[in-house]
Amino acid sequence: MIKIKNLIHEYIRRDEEENVVDIKKAVDNVNIDVKPGEFVALLGHNGSGKSTLAKHINAILYPTEGTVWVNGMNTSAEENLWQIRQSAGMVFQNPDNQIIGSVVEEDVGFGPENMGIPTEEIWQRVEESLKAVGMWQYRKKSPNKLSGGQKQRVAIAGVVAMHPKCIILDEATAMLDPSGRKEVLRAVRALNQVEKVTIIHITHYMEEVIYADKVFVMDKGSVVMEGAPREIFSRVEELQKLRLDVPQVTQLAYELKKSGLPIKSGILTVEELVEELCKCR
Ligand code: ADP
Ligand code: MG
Repeated sequence: MIKIKNLIHEYIRRDEEENVVDIKKAVDNVNIDVKPGEFVALLGHNGSGKSTLAKHINAILYPTEGTVWVNGMNTSAEENLWQIRQSAGMVFQNPDNQIIGSVVEEDVGFGPENMGIPTEEIWQRVEESLKAVGMWQYRKKSPNKLSGGQKQRVAIAGVVAMHPKCIILDEATAMLDPSGRKEVLRAVRALNQVEKVTIIHITHYMEEVIYADKVFVMDKGSVVMEGAPREIFSRVEELQKLRLDVPQVTQLAYELKKSGLPIKSGILTVEELVEELCKCR
């Protein structure tokens, strides 16, 4: 679905005479492969290059060096732009900047309408998409009456209505309260499992990473860790050095193991820890 090969991205700042005054290497030789239908999580401290990388998948940015393919299409080729944007939809942090319609169902219909989809099919897609994120009963409501989590689900429905193969969520849960985050994550997991939509979930909430097929951790523009959630979360000290928190239950299990209890590493859920502790008696 996505192949990123030796990607380098430099932000180049120039003065009025076009002289280069500053170069910032935001992505530094990244290689990533994502298969169709995978749920991939991308972690990293602020400024590690996650958003810059994400913008390459949607052809908002072009490589300084290296190549990005989305659904087999090279993002550097201008003729692919429209198809790439349709293949890979983005959801951003602030739901208020993404909702334009004054009624939920209208808002979700904008994307397909812009694509020139016939009216009847637009309504069909609006219904499917709102149902997929659990917002169908709010279709006649004004988006500004909704909670943050609900707004973000409407934004996701707007992307889903364009039938993308892949959805990139760039800290789409960052501004939500815990229940809003859960709502959004549930909707995203359902899209992944039921509709087989490929998901790239950028977050710094570790709890949201547990269900990913694959996790990439970025630091200073590079991918510094890569693996299944359980492998990543058994490397507690490395994560802490990268200023990332591990899930609370993983941290507790790690501390207990360190103090001598025979507990396996990479515990991800409370149930698993309870099971391990029961074996200790
Ligand atoms: P993240 O999403 O992980 O917080 P970003 O991709 O936003 O990281 O930023 C990576 C680095 O690139 C940071 O050092 C940031 O300051 C810099 N950066 C991001 N956007 C720009 C820009 N438009 N111009 C110059 N530097 C930028
Ligand atoms: Mg970012």
